[in-house]
Amino acid sequence: MDLKRLKQTLSRIDGKGYKAYKDLQGEYRFPHFQLMIDYVQGDPFAAPSRIRVRMPQSEAKIPEEWFTQPHRKVALEDWIARVWAEKAARYSFRAKGTGKSGLIGVDRPGQEILPRTAAVVTRDYVEVRVTVGLPAQGRRVLGRKAEEMLCDYLPRLVMEATPADSIDREGVEERMKLVDNQRAIRQYLKEKGWIAFIANSAVLPRESGISDRPLKGENVVEFRAPESLEVSVKVPHGSPIRGMAIRDGITLIVGGGYHGKSTLLNALERGVYDHIAGDGREYVITDAEAVKVRAEDGRRVEKVNISPFINNLPFGRDTVRFSTEDASGSTSQATNIVESLEMGASCLLIDEDTSATNFMIRDGRMQKLVAKGKEPITPFIDKVRQLYEEKGTSSILVLGGSGDYFDVADTVIMMDEYLPYEVTREAKEVARIQTNDRSREGGEEFGEVTPRKVLGKGFDPRKGKKEKVDAKGLRSIQFGSTVVDLSGVEQLVDVSQTRAIAEMMRLIGKKADGGKTLRELIEAIYAEIGQKGLDVISPFKGQHPGDLALPRKHEVAAAVNRLRTLRVL
Ligand code: ADP
Ligand code: MG
Repeated sequence: MDLKRLKQTLSRIDGKGYKAYKDLQGEYRFPHFQLMIDYVQGDPFAAPSRIRVRMPQSEAKIPEEWFTQPHRKVALEDWIARVWAEKAARYSFRAKGTGKSGLIGVDRPGQEILPRTAAVVTRDYVEVRVTVGLPAQGRRVLGRKAEEMLCDYLPRLVMEATPADSIDREGVEERMKLVDNQRAIRQYLKEKGWIAFIANSAVLPRESGISDRPLKGENVVEFRAPESLEVSVKVPHGSPIRGMAIRDGITLIVGGGYHGKSTLLNALERGVYDHIAGDGREYVITDAEAVKVRAEDGRRVEKVNISPFINNLPFGRDTVRFSTEDASGSTSQATNIVESLEMGASCLLIDEDTSATNFMIRDGRMQKLVAKGKEPITPFIDKVRQLYEEKGTSSILVLGGSGDYFDVADTVIMMDEYLPYEVTREAKEVARIQTNDRSREGGEEFGEVTPRKVLGKGFDPRKGKKEKVDAKGLRSIQFGSTVVDLSGVEQLVDVSQTRAIAEMMRLIGKKADGGKTLRELIEAIYAEIGQKGLDVISPFKGQHPGDLALPRKHEVAAAVNRLRTLRVL
């Protein structure tokens, strides 16, 4: 259909009840693009309508070298989504009316560059997924306003934000160089088997506890690698990048309170994702399988083998298949570690600020007072080396309070006024002179990590008669009549990831039948996404899922593990 038909329909339904907008559903040919009206909302207060704008490459003329390689495609689509989100805000709510009338929105990316569904670039076209609030006066169609919105603002927006001619070419070229370099550093780490890289002059602190933007001003101390840990990484664009490498093994980050330890660890946590230019952490790169673990009292646990850490609980409670509705600090932290290992974590990131003290350490004096037979917990200090040597899983630990870890560390980094210094030799010397008088606990081996097979019956997406599955903010998911609390899942960064996890949980629930492990179920979904794109997890048929971003498998598993109705074999 052409533009004329759209205008005709709008003038025909003008003033009618809102449902008349349903007549708009369909495709329309505009001079430079196609408009697909996929879904029309039921009333002006309901979830907004979903439309797509598709511009053929004959018009858009996006250079192929910007999207033929997968990492560049992700970066380009992110770029387009960003530009659209920003420009759409200028046209949004110009057509005024009741409820969401006049809304024009595109899912806006944050500091990370993630695969997302908001924009798609192929050899044939550029497609952007937009949500709109079709204008109403009360519950009556405002045909004129809708025409303004769809036939004036929208085309202007399309032309400002889509064709290569309107795009900031230099900006995109810079972005391409950035993501090429980020990828090169990731490959460098992989080849060496190392965990992380932090470039000199990186800015790690954030503006505030609730902001993800870099701290600015003269008090910011830029990162500078200690000489002994400094490496130089060759990258495809520009001169080699120098910075600190964190090798595999056990790394301690020590130092006085308020000297920047947690800030460094937080940057490493986020380094599993690539960041945009200007973030300050664009060259903070962490192995993508590194997982932050913390204590999380009150979480539910479903038949997890925490016996490497916890044994001999009162009343003979099972710790090989440990379940609880209300985990303690230590049992929750043990669970979080074991679940991460089930998913193949390469490195654990642990901050004493968010750890259970009795999980991290049991010192010589306490060992003498409370006999091992009376203490169910084997502290992490006695397991951390076995974990690395037997399972290949490294640890990076922030510690201000316990020097006992000097014995088990490979590398000790001290933060002093926000700058890192290597003090491994000094720490080892201290450990030699001042013995800690503690005896090793926990046996000769780490113990078994037991994969769990998931049953379908724990997943019920219904609330009443209807299915209800969605993100409720960044760290909470409504799954049927239960709420999944993700406040302890700190590497989740974008609510669009949370929405994607909610959808994936629905799929896992359908596939789970006790025959497959959680990891296998999740990997099967990622294999499908790899073939068909992230759209594939959306339940909408013929409607775009414009607001999803790819989470890591670890965060998907974390959500399933926190589903209070989960059942495993
Ligand atoms: P620690 O964990 O060692 O107690 P934090 O990492 O929490 O310390 O940092 C303490 C404060 O210092 C935070 O407010 C943080 O934003 C700020 N900060 C951290 N690193 C830097 C830096 N490189 N430059 C300036 N301020 C920083
Ligand atoms: Mg701290």
